[in-house]
Amino acid sequence: MAPTSTYLDHAATTPLRPEARAAMAPFVDGDGSYANPSGGHALARAARKAVDDARESVADVLGCAPGEVVFTSGGTEADNHAVLGAVRRGGGRAVCTTIEHHAVLHPVEHLGGRLVEVDAAGVVDLVELEAALVTGDGDGGGDRVRVVSVMAANNEVGTIQPLLRVTRLVSKRAPDAYVHTDAVQGAAWLDLALVAKHCHLMSISAHKFGGPKGVGALVVRDGVELEPLLFGGGQERDRRSGTHNVAGIVGLASALVATASQREDADTRVRALRDRLLDELLARVPGLHETVPRDAKVAGAAHVCVEGVESEALLYLLEREGVYASAASSCASGAMEPSHVLQAMGVPKELAAGALRLTLGFASTDADIDRALDVVPAAVAHLRRER
Ligand code: PLP
Repeated sequence: MAPTSTYLDHAATTPLRPEARAAMAPFVDGDGSYANPSGGHALARAARKAVDDARESVADVLGCAPGEVVFTSGGTEADNHAVLGAVRRGGGRAVCTTIEHHAVLHPVEHLGGRLVEVDAAGVVDLVELEAALVTGDGDGGGDRVRVVSVMAANNEVGTIQPLLRVTRLVSKRAPDAYVHTDAVQGAAWLDLALVAKHCHLMSISAHKFGGPKGVGALVVRDGVELEPLLFGGGQERDRRSGTHNVAGIVGLASALVATASQREDADTRVRALRDRLLDELLARVPGLHETVPRDAKVAGAAHVCVEGVESEALLYLLEREGVYASAASSCASGAMEPSHVLQAMGVPKELAAGALRLTLGFASTDADIDRALDVVPAAVAHLRRER
């Protein structure tokens, strides 16, 4: 990346934290620790110890037992495992909100599950959720609900969901159902032990909080029964086969510990940066709308919709100036369709066409905000003149 670049796409991914890089180094460069942790010799035992230690650190931050942590290849696998694994093992229906990441939405749809609407701020409609819990598939068939998936924080607009209320509702109306939360975007900002406390299943992904890509974890509370997604060597106590990604797991643990220990300071600092960015953009760019109120979203989220511009053209101009952002979830970028999240929140199509997702993170600085405040208003003005 060019030295002058301004990275405002932390919801897509984050830079590797120095702590994580240092922790991973011995397992990447190979000083004997490259061994397969499932093996029986001394080198394998050294690698196994690294995985065990990482599991303990992760469990410590998440407030769960080490045996409740299942390492995965990332958030997508953890989400798929929670939804598909619960229904394949126990039967019944899957329920989720309309603004889940596709890693939850698509498995739920694949199983013929039910989607629950959200309000204009992206908050789950608890009345509709209750109806979904009572009637199962919504056709009056009374099919029992097996898993309810409600994300901790949304990846586009940053909305935080009322998980405690969701859990209470589920335990009242569908006491046999599991509550899963996709905490992939919440991990950098929320107290994960508090989040996990209210759930049977919770997904995280290392690269969203300064860890490496391609590694994540699913918390599976004791007694929760899931069908594995991957069969093979029986790693992770038969819950997830496949040779452990030792360096990745060590990096995840290190990044998670660093994130948790710096979380409150990072939240305060980044929230101030984010608020300055939004206040100034609102003042300088007529027809710019903040998509979700600040008290409803995580500190790093600064999603706006700009009247009279196309996201794609705006992102192009920003990139030319070294400002990197996105329109919707990066998994869908390239295809500039209206975001399913904005549609579900009822954002008018013309406004959604000018969506700009700016997301800050632990690496964001005052200089990033200054640069964005120079570049974004000028780019919007340029596009409007061109029309
Ligand atoms: N869930 C959410 C909310 C996400 O934002 C993402 C990634 O963007 C994922 C799941 C998928 O995680 P991963 O990239 O680790 O597969």
